[in-house]
Amino acid sequence: MDHIPVLIAGGGPAGAATALSLAARKIPCIIAEASPSPQDKAGETIPANAAPLLRKLGIMGLLEEPAHLPCYGNRFIWGREQPADKLYFFHIHQQGWHLDRRIFEQQLQAKVTATGTRYLNGWRVTHCNPDDGQWTVSLKNDNNDTRMISCDFIADATGKSCRIARMLGSTRHHADKLVGISTCYQLTGVLPQYTFIEAVQHGWWYAALLSGQRLMTTFMTDADLLGPEVRHPQGYLDSLRQTGLIAPLLSNVNVCTESEPSVFTAASGYLSACYGQRWLAVGDAAFSYDPISSYGITSALEGGFYAGHAIADTLAGNRDALPAYDWLITQAFTRYTTMHQHQYQQEQRWPQQPFWQRRHSLIPA
Ligand SMILES: Cc1cc2nc3c(=O)[nH]c(=O)nc-3n(C[C@H](O)[C@H](O)[C@H](O)COP(=O)(O)OP(=O)(O)OC[C@H]3O[C@@H](n4cnc5c(N)ncnc54)[C@H](O)[C@@H]3O)c2cc1C
Repeated sequence: MDHIPVLIAGGGPAGAATALSLAARKIPCIIAEASPSPQDKAGETIPANAAPLLRKLGIMGLLEEPAHLPCYGNRFIWGREQPADKLYFFHIHQQGWHLDRRIFEQQLQAKVTATGTRYLNGWRVTHCNPDDGQWTVSLKNDNNDTRMISCDFIADATGKSCRIARMLGSTRHHADKLVGISTCYQLTGVLPQYTFIEAVQHGWWYAALLSGQRLMTTFMTDADLLGPEVRHPQGYLDSLRQTGLIAPLLSNVNVCTESEPSVFTAASGYLSACYGQRWLAVGDAAFSYDPISSYGITSALEGGFYAGHAIADTLAGNRDALPAYDWLITQAFTRYTTMHQHQYQQEQRWPQQPFWQRRHSLIPA
């Protein structure tokens, strides 16, 4: 059985950043990633203020890839009928990005691999057992082959499934039942490079311009409020056409109603414990953001940076490293909760609608 100091379960932004941070501390690790190859994922916007973190992680250069487009700010209808702009132009970093998510995940993997870290693509962590001060971890691939790895420390970067933390007895609290339903359209004309956001009675829409002349559109609502009609291409399009800000963008797209919209869970949630003896959770596994923040990817990368250092310090015998990491996560979640409440309080046009009522009555976590 192979032995490695650290095994990271999950190779998304959080797992990759944890590996980069560990590599900087010269701690060998392996990433086990369930998908056989980097996948497209929901979520594409990185805000301008992520730039210092990306530099710190040494990955700022990844955004020079032409598949990632600059984003110059948000144009939104929120809290009133008239559109407004919030432009990054006035921000010190001046632009954010709309990522091609599959390419970004590919780039992160290449960056991690260049440090000497192995990615085990197509291997899902299924069990981990404490064994004489170490972990014995079982992995399975799609052919049902199994392999075992022993390690000193395990990082759960498995996203919202928080597979390892749950295996180890931590429970996930869900703050809401938010889901996103998305469809991508092919553009025929030119659009301003903004993120378009629009509040409606039962949730909110966003649209983002992606490379290859694609317009990504997503409707965010609660799972129990997602009507059957919007799950079909024509019903989705009909709802989109009722918006004030996003519908006009459709005059620039080749509207195809063949492919089914995809539904993603986007619930905010957090773990009862995001670390324990020789393990921690990072990224969405530790806590996840409402996409209105556009901060999930950045937060996963930031969490990975600190997680790598916390693991390295723990392996060096520092008993305060994991509680300090936990403190950072709690602080970040508290800041997020305040921001989230402030954002939703600004929309008061539909006080009787369950989607808005639920958010106006949220109690901080
Ligand atoms: C509709 C929607 C819109 C969003 N919009 C934005 C946005 O505009 N901006 C933004 O910043 N964020 C956005 N997000 C959130 C963002 O995508 C996530 O916060 C981010 O991907 C979290 O990264 P992560 O590495 O923690 O988890 P993930 O990216 O989910 O990666 C987890 C990885 O773990 C792997 N895995 C799972 N189980 C196992 C296992 N047992 N063993 C091994 N591997 C496993 C998975 O295959 C996956 O690759 C959005 C999310 C949704 C749903």
